[in-house]
Amino acid sequence: MICFFGGTFDPVHLGHLRAAQAVRAHLELASLRMILSARPGHRSAPVASLSHRWRMLCIACQEEVGLVPDDTETKRSAPSYTVDTLLSIRAGHPGEAIAWTLGSDAFIGLPSWHRWRDVLSLTNLVILARPGVDDLTGSDPDLVNLLNTHRVDDLRGCTVGGVLVLNDIALLDTSATQVRERLANHRPVETLVPPEVAAYINEHDLYGDTGEAKKAV
Ligand code: ATP
Repeated sequence: MICFFGGTFDPVHLGHLRAAQAVRAHLELASLRMILSARPGHRSAPVASLSHRWRMLCIACQEEVGLVPDDTETKRSAPSYTVDTLLSIRAGHPGEAIAWTLGSDAFIGLPSWHRWRDVLSLTNLVILARPGVDDLTGSDPDLVNLLNTHRVDDLRGCTVGGVLVLNDIALLDTSATQVRERLANHRPVETLVPPEVAAYINEHDLYGDTGEAKKAV
């Protein structure tokens, strides 16, 4: 099985890394691909540039056994639609099981994704219940039908279309928004991101004065 954990990673934080490692362990995978959403099509533009987000992801993965940074989406100039990424991955790995990891907040927004039903025809989903987002069905009845297993073994035999919900994984209540807000308010982030990423952020003076911070003050 090839497993992905996608994100804007603006910046990558310990919540992402802890969650990705938990999925890797749970699925008993040697590696998991951390795929950068280079030009996210379904949300506001990232604060840090693509090259900075990519460097931070690479730096963070250097310290993490089995987490591999994936630049597939950085090579396209078009918006980073997951369906396009999966089509290219699928073309290179016909017949192989693929799993795409999502936090529950992202899962609830799935119906707003470009060609989201096609996404399901190209991959399995692994859903992580994030603190504060435990009603995974949201208001969309289409999502209810997708929540079909809590057992890893069910997913193993499934090439595409399976949805595995992992409720029992301890996640950190950390978000990139929280990291950016703290930085813009000149507060330390060493407990939220790896030290090497904190050093990179400081060195390049990222997130110094974001609009979010102005709102938060
Ligand atoms: P932002 O605050 O900018 O929206 P974010 O922290 O949610 O960012 P993203 O890069 O947008 O991070 O998220 C990538 C993926 O990681 C999503 O599927 C999201 O649900 C998941 N994720 C983010 N933070 C956590 C966390 N603390 N634990 C588990 N999953 C997380």
